[in-house]
Amino acid sequence: MLQNIPYDDYELNLLSSCQLCPRRCKVNRLKGEKGFCQTDASLNVALVCNHKGEEPSLSGEKGICNVFFSHCNLQCTYCQNKQISDNKNEVKNSYSTFDDLILEIKKVLQESENVLGFVSPSHSIALMRAIIRTLHSQGIYPKIVYNTNAYDRVEILRDLEEFVDVYLPDYKYSDILLAKELSRVENYPEIALKAIEEMYRQKGRNGVIVRHLILPSQINNSKKALWNISDISFNINVSLMSQYTPCEQYKQEYLNQYLNEKEYQEVCDYFYEIGLSQGLFQELSSQNNLVPDFDSNSWS
Ligand code: SF4
Repeated sequence: MLQNIPYDDYELNLLSSCQLCPRRCKVNRLKGEKGFCQTDASLNVALVCNHKGEEPSLSGEKGICNVFFSHCNLQCTYCQNKQISDNKNEVKNSYSTFDDLILEIKKVLQESENVLGFVSPSHSIALMRAIIRTLHSQGIYPKIVYNTNAYDRVEILRDLEEFVDVYLPDYKYSDILLAKELSRVENYPEIALKAIEEMYRQKGRNGVIVRHLILPSQINNSKKALWNISDISFNINVSLMSQYTPCEQYKQEYLNQYLNEKEYQEVCDYFYEIGLSQGLFQELSSQNNLVPDFDSNSWS
């Protein structure tokens, strides 16, 4: 079942009673048991690809080699990656062995800026660590980006300090009820904020970019999210994303709209009003441009 994944004792221990993320399901993933993320300890990499759409300071000209894991420890109603992130679907795995996966990563890394990003890694930290250790053992040391929904445990993040160079957390909600309704998660605002605090403690300003996706008609959620982030530092890098795209018909009417210019401007203005200073502001025109298609392995 483990497809020769070279887990070390620490990782085996993590998987034997899984508390990798704040859901703390305590299932034995090595024996095939599954918790909320419906993922055991085998390979769950849906796609490895070169991606040029991340923040310019990371993707540079040649792009970033992104590793997309199947399934997720959140289940966001409006997720753009549902093809691979929906825990109700079978785990999508595109590689029959760990060695095949490493070969593919090495190939894509060569085309990129030598930056390796792990997307939605919180439930796959053991596998991520095994990948990084294996590359290091072969003398390959790319810059490592941890691209997360921020629903992470501080204790687990502490043990990632030596593995990760840049944290890219998405601080999704300041509104606890919205988090529960849209992502099936308890106490998200506080847990995610503590996780981002730990990331900032480890890497400082140069190693953290906090993302926030502005949802249509949820401007107060976005403003309070910025307020919470500013508690960590007024100099923290914040990337405000306007790319929200409805991917299906939702029962929440507001999710069937796009963000409008007035809403976006209000959030951008608030960013400066409260004293934040390091902002990256996505063009509103990026709506629809950044929706991945995992069946055709492309970005539409
Ligand atoms: S990683 Fe998965 S199994 Fe482990 S605690 Fe989180 S949701 Fe549960």
